[in-house]
Amino acid sequence: MHEWSIADAVVRTVEDMMEGREGRVSKIVLGVPRISFLDVEILIEAFDELKKNTSLSDSRLEVNIREPSFTCQRCGFVFHLNDIKSQVDDLRSEFGEEYPLHLIPMLGPSFLTCPHCGSHDISGNDDIVVERVEIESTVKPS
Ligand SMILES: [Zn+2]
Repeated sequence: MHEWSIADAVVRTVEDMMEGREGRVSKIVLGVPRISFLDVEILIEAFDELKKNTSLSDSRLEVNIREPSFTCQRCGFVFHLNDIKSQVDDLRSEFGEEYPLHLIPMLGPSFLTCPHCGSHDISGNDDIVVERVEIESTVKPS
């Protein structure tokens, strides 16, 4: 399943980051775009299962749902759904109120224009990233 392969990638990524470093990972914050269709509960369950017998066994996974962002390939302008609200509203009135907002990033290149230069050459950002790793010192305070 998708969630399990992502949890596996998170465990590997953070273990790689921690290699040769002091301390113990207490929390991992994963940035997940709203459009990724991930089941967060399954993702955390998978992480809790996969972290066993690794250096991350005491850590906790926190998922931070992010708004997707878009990058204009012509002028480099980065913008979010809020910045193109009027365009989104236009799409909604065209496709109906039920138009699923989460599909817009995929359709972005064909429907949306850069609010800065008007270009249609836009890419959506749907990367899942490790945003933050919290590390506790393994040295006990005396
Ligand atoms: Zn632009």
